[in-house]
Order: sequence, then structure tokens, then C-alpha cells
Amino acid sequence: MRARIAVLPGDGIGPEVVAEALRCLRALAGSFGHTLELEELPFGGAAIDACGEPLPAGTLEACLAADAVLLGAIGGPRWSHPSAKVRPEQGLLGLRKALGVYANLRPVRVHPALLEASTIKPDVLTGVDLVFVRELTGGIYFGAKTREAASASDLCVYSVPEIERITRAAARLARGRRRRLTSIDKSNVLETSRLWREVCERVMRAEFPDVTLEHMLVDAAAMHLIRRPRDFDVLVTENMFGDILTDEASMLAGSLGLLPSASLGEGARGLYEPIHGSAPDIAGRGIANPYGTLLSVAMLLRHSLALPREAQVLESAVSRAIEGGARTPDIAGPGRACTTREAGEAVLEALAAPA
Ligand code: NAD
Repeated sequence: MRARIAVLPGDGIGPEVVAEALRCLRALAGSFGHTLELEELPFGGAAIDACGEPLPAGTLEACLAADAVLLGAIGGPRWSHPSAKVRPEQGLLGLRKALGVYANLRPVRVHPALLEASTIKPDVLTGVDLVFVRELTGGIYFGAKTREAASASDLCVYSVPEIERITRAAARLARGRRRRLTSIDKSNVLETSRLWREVCERVMRAEFPDVTLEHMLVDAAAMHLIRRPRDFDVLVTENMFGDILTDEASMLAGSLGLLPSASLGEGARGLYEPIHGSAPDIAGRGIANPYGTLLSVAMLLRHSLALPREAQVLESAVSRAIEGGARTPDIAGPGRACTTREAGEAVLEALAAPA
């Protein structure tokens, strides 16, 4: 098959992890006989430096014309001083909105070889396999903002159609898994959450009676995620709660650097990125974990290019690289840590010698 992928390496460790992802993707495409057009474009802080804006028109155009978008990470202290007029994050919010990708899927699986890498006890972690579906284009991140000398405000807004479509996306996913959906809100305090709960309840009763629905307050969810993570299947929540809870959930897997994500809308096109940021504290040292980005590429192959076999081959290669001991410092434990490049090499070797 032929496909066009817009590649946005971004800032900090973004270009480092994307470089490994591209090497593996090229090798995989070559062995399956696919022709991929991979176009690298400026985005985020790098684009602010190059042309004064985080999402240049040419980058947006290329993303809209592509079958999928692969992103590294954006941001960093250099562009985030309080008086900054343009910020890398504006580019990311703008891109998500322009692509219409409202459902952010964040799977969390615990690799058996990494049980010891987590700060949580292995017996709590064994068998954890959950997916967060985070609403991505509404809520407090997108509401009107004000700033006075002595106060500031951020408006949180959700509409009925926004809640309906994210509920459906999560319920469809649950149907293909263990048929359990947990909707997370703060309905004891927030009006947007009361609407969320009502709409979610209605959609599930009318359209997905075969999927078990439970509601959970966000504070309780934060606790249960650590106490009994195995009990969760699919979790759906609004933008900011999802942002925070998925960083927490990444600790189940052992590192922020391991988790992939897919942001999807109505069509096949999607935006794929690891859930971590630009990690300025380790940028430029060649030690970032590239597995979250590689697993994001697997999600891209599965969702946007309809290549489930290739996705599975890549996931299995990442798994075997980890089992073989290719572990960056964040997941190395007491063992020898490898570099970003060595982790990429290990995946390339596993791709060359299929299981
Ligand atoms: P971060 O995710 O960049 O880093 C948090 C911690 O996790 C750091 O100690 C970092 O070293 C570690 N870490 C992250 N990714 C790793 C990887 N692949 N391998 C090994 N260790 C890894 O979060 P932060 O430090 O709060 O934010 C840094 C910048 O990233 C900020 O400007 C923030 O706005 C931005 N950010 C961007 C995105 C995105 O691009 N989607 C997401 C989150 C944060």
C-alpha cells in the first residue's frame, strides 16, 4: 500500500524518539512492501524559532493532506516563560482541533518483564490491561480565559454532542474488549460533570446495553487506579481529568516513556504521539525511552492504515527488545541501561528476526 505520513519531531527528546520510530517504520514498511511517504515538518517550539508560530500554515496543510500524523513532543522552558506571547502548546491544541481528533486513546499494559520497574507491587500490577479514552477538544483547556492583575479564570464547557460522541467512541472500544466502561467525572461539584454523567448514562442505556457502565468520581478513580488497576477495562473522561489520570496510570507500566496514544476523529486519519512531553531534563543526552513512540507507530498502522498485522509485528518486536534487556535508564532498574539508539537497534533486530 501507499500512504503519506506527516512527521512532527517537535522539541526536546521529540526528535530523538521520532528518529528511532522512523528507522523502525521504514524497515517494517520495506519488509512488507509498503511505500510510505514520510514528510518531516516544523512544529512546536522549533517552529516558533523558525517562523514565529508553533503551527505554521504549511505544517497544518501537510497534516490535513496526510493519512496520519506522527508527533514526538513539544515544549520546554525556552518557550514557556510567563510573558510568552506564543507557546508550543497552542500549536498542539490547534492541530488537534483542526484535525477534529476528539478521542484520545491511551492504552496501559504492564509488560511482565517490567513488573520490577514500577514503584507499585508486582502482585497489584500483574495482568493490568486498560485503555483510557480522554476527550481531547473540549473542556477547560479550550474555554475562554481571563487574566486581571489580581485574578484569573478558565472556563470549562461541554456540549451534549461532545459528550455523546466520546461516550460512543469509548463504548465501541469496550465492546471489542471486556465490555466494561468506567466514566470518570466530578459530578458532586461540577455542572459540566453532571451533564456528562446524564448524557453518558442515556447513550449507554439506549445504544450499548451490552456494555456494563459504572460512574466514578475523579478523586476516587485516582485512588482505585493504584489500588486495584486490574479491575478496569475502558475508562472515559473529560480532557483535564484524562490528562492527569493517564500520567498517573503510566506509572503502572513503569515509565511515562512507555505509553503510546492515538487521537482519533470520525475518519481514519489520526494523530499519534507518546504521552510524554519534551523532557527537557534529559533532552540531548540520547537516553530517552523511544518505546512509547514506537508503540504509537503501531497504533498508527492499525487505526489509520488498517495494517493490523504490521502493527502486531512491531508491538511484538518492542516486547522482545524489552525482554532482551534493551532498557533505557527510566526502566533499566539495577540492570545496565541502554541509549535511545540502542533501544531502536534492538527493535530493528527483532523486526529482522520475526518471532
Ligand atoms: P515530561 O513528560 O516531558 O517529563 C516528565 C518526566 O518524565 C521527566 O523527568 C522526564 O525526563 C521523564 N520522561 C518523559 N518522557 C520520557 C522518555 N521518553 N524517556 C525517559 N524519561 C522520560 O513532562 P514535563 O517535564 O512536565 O514537561 C516538559 C515539557 O513538555 C513542557 O513544556 C510541557 O508543556 C511539555 N509537554 C508536552 C506534551 C506533548 O508534546 N504532547 C505533553 C506533556 C508535556
